[in-house]
Amino acid sequence: MAKIGVLALQGAVKEHIQQIELLGHEAVAVKTCGDLLGIDGLILPGGESTTMGKMLERNDLLDPIMSLAQQGVPMFGTCAGLILLARKIKDSNIPHLGLMDVEVERNSFGRQVDSFEAPLSIPSIGNEITAVFIRAPHIVSVGKHVEILATYEKRIVLARDGQFLGCSFHPELTDDVRILEYFIGMVTDFIKVPR
Ligand code: GLN
Repeated sequence: MAKIGVLALQGAVKEHIQQIELLGHEAVAVKTCGDLLGIDGLILPGGESTTMGKMLERNDLLDPIMSLAQQGVPMFGTCAGLILLARKIKDSNIPHLGLMDVEVERNSFGRQVDSFEAPLSIPSIGNEITAVFIRAPHIVSVGKHVEILATYEKRIVLARDGQFLGCSFHPELTDDVRILEYFIGMVTDFIKVPR
């Protein structure tokens, strides 16, 4: 059983926690640095990246999360969580982690349609995965070690950079747990490596 933290400053926290528990793993709501102790993986949920970035700074969580990353702990950012993980955020200087070698653009699927659903085919995960996009970012460019896992309308919406996984959409808002299972696979591979 893996122990997975979910950053719980703001946003879609409880849905992630419920799905982690549904898959038989332990979920921890992370609000302070102490909550990071002993976790094997970390999910950064969707919400509002500007608010979460400021709260990460105010709650002194940026450095402790970065040092967990240095230890190889897998991290998964969904929507605003992807923005927090990204190395660069286009036209923005909000406090963030900058761990995943991608550049993202916020709110990049048009203003008229704030949210929509689309079926994605993700070769390494499965077909007909419903992706819920809510004022979603997309990945504008990726570093050379980054694996592009899914695109939608020619925009990168799911990618993996070694221990980091990031998606533009909200997998936790559907009953389909395949992307979470993929992330938990990354976490269980990490647990197996002697530390
Ligand atoms: N538009 C939000 C942001 O830039 C992200 C939206 C979301 O997480 N659903 O932070």
